[in-house]
Amino acid sequence: MTDPLEKPTPGPRPRETFELEETGFNEVPKRFRRFYRRWRGPGDKLGPNEALCPVCKVVIRSTKTLRAGDRVYCMPCMSRLELVEEDGMLVAKVIY
Ligand SMILES: [Zn+2]
Repeated sequence: MTDPLEKPTPGPRPRETFELEETGFNEVPKRFRRFYRRWRGPGDKLGPNEALCPVCKVVIRSTKTLRAGDRVYCMPCMSRLELVEEDGMLVAKVIY
């Protein structure tokens, strides 16, 4: 399994599935590239299947909708993150 979503939280609503296209992100091996992209700054709106890594500021992309409680893996900096809801927004926190 290459999707960064490692531990999906069970929830009542089914998750949407997303087609991921090549992003040109070249800091990880080719077959993982579509799961990451560069963040373009504060005006860059994240999709429902995306999370920003607070460590390396790379956008992590899953083929599924992300939710609070999910655990994702950031390959570029090798961080394990947990998604937390803050002010109605999903924020990724590093798991130590
Ligand atoms: Zn990272």
